[in-house]
Amino acid sequence: MTFNAQILTLYPEIFPGPLGTSLAGRALSEGKWALDAINPRDFATDKHRSVDDTPAGGGAGMVLRVDVMAAAVDHAIERMTEKIGSSRAQSRGDLGNEGVSTSLDTNGEGALGSHGQRLSSNSVRPEPVAGLSSSAAPTSTTPDQVRGRAATRLPAAPILAMTPRGKPLTQARVREIATGPGVTIICGRFEGFDERLFQGRPIEEVSIGDYVLSGGEMGALVLLDACIRLLPGVMGASSSGDDESFEHGILEYPQYTRPQIWEGRIIPEVLRSGDHAKIAAWRKQRAEEDTRLRRPDLWERHRDAPDQSPSGAQEKDKDKE
Ligand code: SAH
Repeated sequence: MTFNAQILTLYPEIFPGPLGTSLAGRALSEGKWALDAINPRDFATDKHRSVDDTPAGGGAGMVLRVDVMAAAVDHAIERMTEKIGSSRAQSRGDLGNEGVSTSLDTNGEGALGSHGQRLSSNSVRPEPVAGLSSSAAPTSTTPDQVRGRAATRLPAAPILAMTPRGKPLTQARVREIATGPGVTIICGRFEGFDERLFQGRPIEEVSIGDYVLSGGEMGALVLLDACIRLLPGVMGASSSGDDESFEHGILEYPQYTRPQIWEGRIIPEVLRSGDHAKIAAWRKQRAEEDTRLRRPDLWERHRDAPDQSPSGAQEKDKDKE
């Protein structure tokens, strides 16, 4: 199955960029994942094709317009549904509002997304969905028609927006996304997004760290790279990344390779002992100790909930064997 990545970006030429080489590049040419860049500028409606405007309340910079961004998001939702939803609907023998989770919010409390994020409440209304025909760009649709088509449904795959105000991205979330049918990533520019975009559409706000980039594209590349390496058959057969940093909520143990002695420094004796039980114990102890010293934040969380990885349950099953 192909993992479908959709990127909303004013700079589509950035993609696939570094994801066109090495592991990710090979996986792309083998069809393990597919990339589709959507330019919000194609959804601008004025003659200058503007996508931004000055911030309400004043201040520096420009803000991405909610109407233009929402039109691009709606297009992305339909396109994703066509790619993955229609095949699901066909296999179930029904058509229409399928291929999407339909846990609609009818009580005004706001629906929860698969990640537990609170989704939009104000525009979420259960309306019948007309045939999911392909939507070309911009358009004379009324806001209600647009809402009827897209905002009343939860998307077939998660929609993430890159923003420093978002929830920090974690390996656990990356793994969840990678096991799904795909992801749509919205890249900000300038001062970022009009807040109403997140109220009106089921979008998860995500940050890649406590620093500010000039645009969301680098964040999108980071997120995609992290997902792609987890897709089946992308990494070497031997490893599914199970031992790596963050998979169990802690850092990985330190690694060594030949030469055995370098500038007078020798590889720890235990790693040369051939005693697998001792090696495993040493690695566990170093992983824990280094996490405690380097990342007290992670260590504290790990102590409270020892295995935070989504694969934690499987790990426990494996241990029993
Ligand atoms: N005014 C915003 C920053 C805008 S930076 C603020 O202070 O919060 C422009 C764009 O870069 C953002 O819209 C976002 O898409 C992207 N970006 C910047 N830093 C990011 C981060 N840490 N994580 C994810 N995206 C980021």
